[in-house]
Amino acid sequence: MSAPVSAAGRLTVVGLGPGPAEMMTGEALAAVAGASDLFGYGPYLARLALGEGQVAHASDNREELGRAGAALRLAAEGREVAMVSGGDPGVFAMAAAVCEAVEAGPAAWRAVELAVVPGVTAMLAVAARVGAPLGHDFCALSLSDNLKPWEVVEARLRAATGAGFVLAFYNPVSRARPWQLGRAFEVLREVLPGEVVVVFGRAVGRADEAVRVVPLAEAAAGMADMATCVIVGSRETRLVERPGREALVYTPRSLGAER
Ligand code: SAH
Repeated sequence: MSAPVSAAGRLTVVGLGPGPAEMMTGEALAAVAGASDLFGYGPYLARLALGEGQVAHASDNREELGRAGAALRLAAEGREVAMVSGGDPGVFAMAAAVCEAVEAGPAAWRAVELAVVPGVTAMLAVAARVGAPLGHDFCALSLSDNLKPWEVVEARLRAATGAGFVLAFYNPVSRARPWQLGRAFEVLREVLPGEVVVVFGRAVGRADEAVRVVPLAEAAAGMADMATCVIVGSRETRLVERPGREALVYTPRSLGAER
């Protein structure tokens, strides 16, 4: 069977969720099945059972703009192209890289039909494992200073903490960025009490999943790696101890429920 090719060409940016197929949406499964060509980071493409005639174009994690351009070029030629992304493609991921490429690229790329299929983003998958830490207002931050200066990260961290948000950290550490998470905890400890709840959710949905809940006073950078999403509670976030079960972590829906 030959892969489907439309005259106009289409690029669909697809969120695969945090790991397993059960955490993909039906729309994402259909978008993957209907693609003639699939672009993405190698390990994400490897998760998918591709059919005969579907071509995988695997690339390195860092080549986002080049990958977006290659996908747009093929879509402009009339192929049914899918660009896969872990979690949600719009959260620190490929959808914005594709939009950047469309904005900067040739006119033909603006004629490509572009669709974005959402996915379960890491902070939602981690939150679901422990209860409802994102039950009230929250803020997501990437701790990576590859694409913005660290001073900006720290200023946003202070502002969000000062405003009482629960925080979700993406890209908390990497080999090239070993100290940033430790520094972030230092900043948080200046503002928040040591008993504030911190959740480390690692590789959620995958075989090597590990979830750990500690007070801010004990939170350390070594508890996270590149596959970890860290959720830092607000002053309102609570721990509910349960006999024989993990404690529930949740943030009450209304303010004023003081510890
Ligand atoms: N688009 C992705 C995020 C890409 S940034 C999403 O929506 O989830 C990469 C960061 O996402 C990692 O450093 C980590 O913080 C987080 N992450 C991705 N997959 C994860 C998983 N299965 N469990 C926990 N965190 C994850």
